[in-house]
Amino acid sequence: MKDFIYKYAPLDINTISSLLLESIYFSKVSDFDDPTDAAFTISTGSNATDAEAHSIENTKKLYDFMGEQYSADDSLNKTCCLLEKALKEHIGIFCCSKHRVCQKCTFPELNPLMLSHYSEKHRGIVIEYQHTKPQLLHQVDYKTNEYRHFNYAELLQHFLPQDTLKKLEINSEIIKPLLFKFKNWIYQDEYRIFNVPNKSIPYSDLGLAATRIFFGYKVEEHCINTIEKILSNKKIEFYYLSPPIKNNELKNILIHRKYKKGSRKNCDSTCQY
Ligand SMILES: [Zn+2]
Repeated sequence: MKDFIYKYAPLDINTISSLLLESIYFSKVSDFDDPTDAAFTISTGSNATDAEAHSIENTKKLYDFMGEQYSADDSLNKTCCLLEKALKEHIGIFCCSKHRVCQKCTFPELNPLMLSHYSEKHRGIVIEYQHTKPQLLHQVDYKTNEYRHFNYAELLQHFLPQDTLKKLEINSEIIKPLLFKFKNWIYQDEYRIFNVPNKSIPYSDLGLAATRIFFGYKVEEHCINTIEKILSNKKIEFYYLSPPIKNNELKNILIHRKYKKGSRKNCDSTCQY
């Protein structure tokens, strides 16, 4: 069975470049707009663990990675700060959502809130990607509205030096602090892919292929025509969203093909998820 992820995006030059060049840009968490994203602290904790006793080598690796000179006189507090900085500024994140897909019409259950917040108030798009590397996808945890606390030595055991940052999928322990969000965001049903930050990574490395684009219902027709032309040599299908129908549930934003007579529509309220 095919698996898909969804990216809600504004219709700007970054989105268009990503689609045209078939690559994904990875931002660091310190550049995100939500100050509670990856809300964690790293401390020495009250209980000394086995890991702490063996952490000198790992601490030196961290200092090396951060370009700092290690000295035995440095406080553990400095190590904790460096580790927090390494996670927040040296790991890149791509955020996406998962949706249920109707077994009858094959359309996803798109989220109107997400369209408002991340697709420029319905003036942007939703990109559907088929993904073939589920091991790269990490589910966000929304359980509480509290900061998470991690023991520095336990995290340091899993710290990856720079040359292996690209293989982040094999080490989910080190990225755990980057997978917590406050529960207010649960509607996003977010998944994250990690890689090197501030860089565009080709779809092929990530096991992704853009399959469908859904235009928000407020995207102007000349924009739609331009985007379709720019992406005409890609294997991407284009669909259009209609505003919710009066007296229907808000989730029933209609998906359809424009311009083509007898074109396929989603089942609206009878979608089978
Ligand atoms: Zn359906």
